[in-house]
Amino acid sequence: ATISLDNVDLNTGKSHMYFSRAMAEKLHREDIIEKEISMCLENGTDAIYLNYQPQLHLATGRVVGFEALARMRSGELGNVSPAEFIDVAERKQLIIPLGNLVLKKACAFLAVLESRGYSELRVAVNVSGIQLIHEGFGSSVMEAVVDSGIRSENLELEITESVLLDNFAAVNKSLKDFQENGIRIALDDFGTGYSSFLRLNELNVNYLKLDRYFVSMVATSDRNDYITSDIISMAHKFDLEVIAEGVETVIQRDFLIENGCDIMQGYLFRRPMEEADALLMLEGFDRIETA
Ligand code: C2E
Ligand code: MG
Ligand code: MG
Ligand code: MG
Repeated sequence: ATISLDNVDLNTGKSHMYFSRAMAEKLHREDIIEKEISMCLENGTDAIYLNYQPQLHLATGRVVGFEALARMRSGELGNVSPAEFIDVAERKQLIIPLGNLVLKKACAFLAVLESRGYSELRVAVNVSGIQLIHEGFGSSVMEAVVDSGIRSENLELEITESVLLDNFAAVNKSLKDFQENGIRIALDDFGTGYSSFLRLNELNVNYLKLDRYFVSMVATSDRNDYITSDIISMAHKFDLEVIAEGVETVIQRDFLIENGCDIMQGYLFRRPMEEADALLMLEGFDRIETA
């Protein structure tokens, strides 16, 4: 008998061929990504570079810093999303050197900011869990800081909850070490993971980044609004500042202001941009009206 599902005949070689061809294409794509990341790390090509998305202090409208977001421009594949190439780097043991490259580039940008007189602005760097539990990570960060001559107070590391699940004590200790060296820590994508409220009181972080999901739910129902505003006030009780990510509408922005959110980031203000554009933006315009 023939079993047929959605026009795919599972009893013929055809569906099987189709499946393995898709697999082969995915593997081929991964090979290309892996090769180009390696080349970039070895020869300093510009395949991997950073974009910067401004973060605004909501009460004053001032730009307080940027989040550095990695980008890949592949010779063969065109633009590849960080979701895809960071994942490949993590699985192919390239995330440690790639993460160090990102740190160096972000610190170099911070040095440029300082030299232009923007010595109060911060840059936040996303850190993979694999980096965070790697023994050499602390010294790589301090090396990037010292080599670039920046103030460590201007560097921020963004971590996610997932790495805390299995390594809470060790990771929390290294977060404290960073803080003692002046570096600030942000808990990224808050609310989407597992640990959430549970151990927030013990966690050595300075900022809580409210995940885009909670921002997108603003003004869709009273119940959703309660959740978002309660996360903000709870964070404040733990002496954390709240950064809202993915702010796209004026309604969302106004809700966040009313509910005491500290900092926002999102397409409503600016998309992530190239370093030169970030500098131009600062020259012409370093605040927006928030009221
Ligand atoms: P993330 O750290 O949560 O970064 C925020 C993501 O939201 C970015 O996506 C940013 O472009 C996007 N975004 C910002 N504002 C808005 C908005 O108003 N609306 C919407 N819809 N999206 C907005 P991106 O650049 O694609 O980065 C995706 C993820 O890739 C990041 O999520 C982060 O987890 C990871 N990533 C990016 N760069 C690095 C890196 O250098 N190292 C590591 N380990 N991960 C990175
Ligand atoms: Mg982030
Ligand atoms: Mg995030
Ligand atoms: Mg996110």
